[in-house]
Amino acid sequence: MGPSKINARSDLALPQLIPSSRCLACDVCCRFPEKDSPLAPYFTAEEIRRAIERGVSPERFADPNGGRIELIPHPYSEGYVCPAFDPAVNGCRIYDHRPLDCQLFPLALMWDPCRRTVLLGYDRKCPFVLESLFSEALFGYGRSMAARLESDEMIKRLGAHPGLIGAYQDDVMILTPLTRLTEALTGRPTGMGARPSPEAVGLTPLADADRPLFESTLKWTRTELSSHSWPALMVWKDHLQYYWTILDRQFCLFARYVDGLFMPLPPMGETLTPEAVRHCFDRMDSMNTYPAISRIENLDGEQVPTFDAMGLVIKPKEQEYLYERDALVRLTGDRYKTKRWACNRFVRDHRNDPVRLEPYRSSDLDDCLELFDRWKKQQDGSGPSSTNREEDRMMLEDAASAHRRALENFTALGLTGRVVRLGGKIVGYTFGYPFRPGIFCVLLEVADREITGLSAYLYREFCRELSGYATIHAMDDSGLERLRAAKLSYHPSKILTSYIATRP
Ligand code: SF4
Repeated sequence: MGPSKINARSDLALPQLIPSSRCLACDVCCRFPEKDSPLAPYFTAEEIRRAIERGVSPERFADPNGGRIELIPHPYSEGYVCPAFDPAVNGCRIYDHRPLDCQLFPLALMWDPCRRTVLLGYDRKCPFVLESLFSEALFGYGRSMAARLESDEMIKRLGAHPGLIGAYQDDVMILTPLTRLTEALTGRPTGMGARPSPEAVGLTPLADADRPLFESTLKWTRTELSSHSWPALMVWKDHLQYYWTILDRQFCLFARYVDGLFMPLPPMGETLTPEAVRHCFDRMDSMNTYPAISRIENLDGEQVPTFDAMGLVIKPKEQEYLYERDALVRLTGDRYKTKRWACNRFVRDHRNDPVRLEPYRSSDLDDCLELFDRWKKQQDGSGPSSTNREEDRMMLEDAASAHRRALENFTALGLTGRVVRLGGKIVGYTFGYPFRPGIFCVLLEVADREITGLSAYLYREFCRELSGYATIHAMDDSGLERLRAAKLSYHPSKILTSYIATRP
C-alpha cells in the first residue's frame, strides 16, 4: 500500500518519509498473501472516481461510496496484488492519485485491541521502518503526521470514512493515540472512565518475534544483571505482560501486572537523557492508580549515579551471584567441604543404581511437572522436608508457572535442560542459557529434597558440562534469606546488586 511509484511528479496531500528509490527496490507494498486481506487499500468515493478515470476497473470496487479495493491474483507470483499495481515495473499506475490509505504507509491507522482508541503506528512489515527504529527522523515524521491527522480537515475526512481506521495489528509499532480523532469517531471524551490500555498510551505488546529487536538493544549495556536477557524475562509471562516503545531513541520495556505498570529494565539506547526517563515515568503514571507503582527496576551499580543525578530515589533491590565454573566443578578446599561431601554421599548411596544426567526432552514434561509438585510440597509446609515460611510459599506459587513455561518452551526460549534419572525415574532437572560471552546463566533447578546430595550433584555435573564458559551466573536471590544463604554457600566470585529507581 506504500509509495511504490512509476513517475516522479508529486502533488500528494501528505509528505512522504521513504525515498522513492527504496520503495522501487522493495517487494512488500501493494502485495498481499490473501485475496480478502484486511490490509487491502481503502478508497473513498472520490478516490474511486479518480482511480477509475486512470484505468482501474470499476468492478474492483464493491461499493462506489468507499471501501477496500478487490485484490487480483499476482500475475507472476503467489498471492494477490492491488489492481493498480504494475508488477512489471514494481510501481503504482495511479501513484499521484493513490488513496490516502496508501499515502499514509508505512504509518498505520488502527483501533486498539478493545476498539476504544484510534492509534497511529508504524507498520513493521516495511523494511525501512525496521532499519530506522532508532532514528529521530522516523519519530519526527510520526509526530508531524499525528498532528496533521488530528487537524479539523483530516478528522472530517476520516470521520466520513471510518473504514480507513483498520483493525488492531500486532506487527505495528504503536506511536501514539489520536485522542481528537477518537473522540470524533466514538462521540465519547477520552480520559474518562476506565484506565487506558497500555496500547492507548502508546505502548506496543512485546511479541516472540521481537526477540531480535530486544537483543539488539543489549549492545548498549555492559551490565551482567541476569534480568537483561530474554529467557529471564519471558519465563514470567504468566504474571507479567510486556510492552515496549522507543522514547528519545531509547528502547523502553514495560511490564504490566495486577497492580499496574513498571519498567523491569532501565531504558536502553545510545545516550540516556533525563527527558527519556521523564517520559517513561509519565507513561507509567498515566496507567497507575498510585504513582509509587511507577518504577524502573534492575539498574546496575554503574547506572546509579546517572539516575541519582536525575533526582530519582534509588534503593537496592536484590543481589545476584556469579561463580568460577572451575571451582564449582572441582569443589576443592575446606570451603567446599560440605558440597563435596554431599556429592560424594549421593554417588556412594547410588553406586548400584543407574544414575544418568541426560538432556531434557519434551517427553519429560509430565515427569518434571510431577517432580516440581513434589518438590514444592517438600518446601511449602505440606511435605516432610518443608521450610514452611510464608515468603517462600508465595515465591513457590509464582515459580510454578515460570517452571512450566520453561519446561514447555525450552527450545523457543533457547534453554539448555538436563534431567537426573535415578532408577529410570526423574528426580531432578535444571535449565539455563548462554548469557554473555563466557557466562552461562542457570535459570532454575529442582531436585528431590529427600535424596541426600542430589542438588549438589546435579549442580556440579551440569557445570561440568558447561566447559565453554568460565563463569556460572546463578541469578538473584529474590530477596529471600534462605536462597541467599544457599547461593553464598557456593562461594561466589562476584556479587552484583540491582537497584530500583522511583520518583521522589
Ligand atoms: S493504489 Fe497504488 S500504492 Fe496503493 S496499494 Fe494500489 S498500487 Fe499500491
